[in-house]
Amino acid sequence: MTEIFTGNFTQQEPIPEAGIEAALKVMRSGRLHRYNVAEGEAGETALLEQEFAAYTGAKYCLAVASGGYAMGAALRALGVAPGAQVLTNAFTLAPVPGAIAAVGAVPVFIGVTPDLVIDLGDLAQKVRGEAKVLMLSHMRGHICDMERLMAICDDAGVAVIEDCAHTMGGAWKGVPSGRQGVMGCYSTQTYKHMNSGEGGLLVSDDAELMARAIMLSGSYMLFERHLAAPPPEAFAEIKYQTPNVSGRMDNLRAAILRPQLADLPAQVARWNARYRVLEEGLADVPGLALTTRPAEETYVGSSIQFLLTDWEEPAITEVLARCAKRGVELKWFGAAEPAGFTSRYDSWRYAPSAPMPASDRVLRGIVDMRIPLTFSEEDCALIARIIRAEVSAVYQAA
Ligand SMILES: *Cc1c(COP(=O)(O)O)cnc(C)c1O
Repeated sequence: MTEIFTGNFTQQEPIPEAGIEAALKVMRSGRLHRYNVAEGEAGETALLEQEFAAYTGAKYCLAVASGGYAMGAALRALGVAPGAQVLTNAFTLAPVPGAIAAVGAVPVFIGVTPDLVIDLGDLAQKVRGEAKVLMLSHMRGHICDMERLMAICDDAGVAVIEDCAHTMGGAWKGVPSGRQGVMGCYSTQTYKHMNSGEGGLLVSDDAELMARAIMLSGSYMLFERHLAAPPPEAFAEIKYQTPNVSGRMDNLRAAILRPQLADLPAQVARWNARYRVLEEGLADVPGLALTTRPAEETYVGSSIQFLLTDWEEPAITEVLARCAKRGVELKWFGAAEPAGFTSRYDSWRYAPSAPMPASDRVLRGIVDMRIPLTFSEEDCALIARIIRAEVSAVYQAA
C-alpha cells in the first residue's frame, strides 16, 4: 500500500484562548492604538515589549508592524543612507534585500555554505569593502559561528543587524539569537514562531539606536509611555532629528502575542521533537544530505532542509512531483524561476551581483519543508518515509 500524507503545510495552530480573550477585551475597549490607553493602564503593546525584552535579555524592545519594518528601522537607526552598500546573505528571503533596497541602499551578497549558513570566508573578504553594515539573516534557523562572525565584523568596523525571523527562541552558546548584533529583528507574521498575522519586534542594548527606532516607528512624543525604552534623556536631540516613518504595532496584535510568548519555550520543544523525527527518518538516504547542527547552536526546528547536491534538474523536479503526489509539499531553491518564497540572490535583479559558483552549487540543491505544529510526530515519521522512498527511487533510476 502506498502511504499518502493528508495534512496541510500552511495550517497553523489556533491562537491560544488566553490571546483570544485578551483580543476581545481590547476590541471591547475600542483602544486599539498603542498610545490610546486608559488612565493607569500600560497597554498590551508596551507590556509585550517589556516581556520580549526580558525574554531576550535585551535592555530595550520596540514592537512594530512587521519584520521587514523592524529591519528597515534598524538600517535607518544606523544611518544607512541611499546609495550605501549593505552586506547580506545570498541565501535568504525577499524581505531581507527588500528592506535594504527600501532605504535606497544596495545589497552586497555573501555566499552560503553546505550547512546553509553565511560563508565566513566570503564575509572576511567582502567586509573589507565599502559596506559598514551587515544584515545577517539566520535563514531557516541556521546560526553560523557567531563568535567568528562578530570578530570579523568588529575588526572591520562593520555593525551587525540580526534578522531573526527564523530564530526567535534560538541561541548560539546560550546567547539568544538577536543579541550579538547591535540590533535584533524578529517577525510575528503567521509563518514565524509567534503569529499575529503581521508584526515585528526589534531589540537592542544601544540607547541611541533604540531612541531613533522608537521615533521612526511613529511615537510622536509619547516615548515615555514605553516600558522597554531608553530614558527620556536619550531622546533629547533625537526627537527633533528623526523622521516619522509610521510602523507601530497595535494593542490587538500585542494582546494575541503575549500568551504566545509565554508558550514559546514549550512550542520550541514541540518543533524540535518533530524536527528530530524528520532528521532521523531522513538519515543515510543515498544522494540526500542533511545539514549538521553544531552543538553550540540552539535551533528551532520550524522547518527542515536537505540537499540534493549535483542532481540534474529533471531528477529534482521528479522527486518534488512524486512527493507532492503523496501529499508532501517540498520547496526547491534551485529552480530557474522564483516560485512562492523560493527566490535567491540572482532573482533580485534590482541588486545585481557577480555569480558565486560555490554558493550556486549549494542553492541548486536546497529542498525545504515547513513543519507546522499542526503536524504530529507520527505525521513527521510518515513524511520522512515518503521523502526517503521517493528520493531513493529517483536516485536509483538515475
Ligand atoms: C518573514 C521574514 C522576514 C520578515 O518578514 P515580514 O513578513 O516583514 O514580517 C525577514 N526575514 C526572513 C528571512 C523572513 O523569512
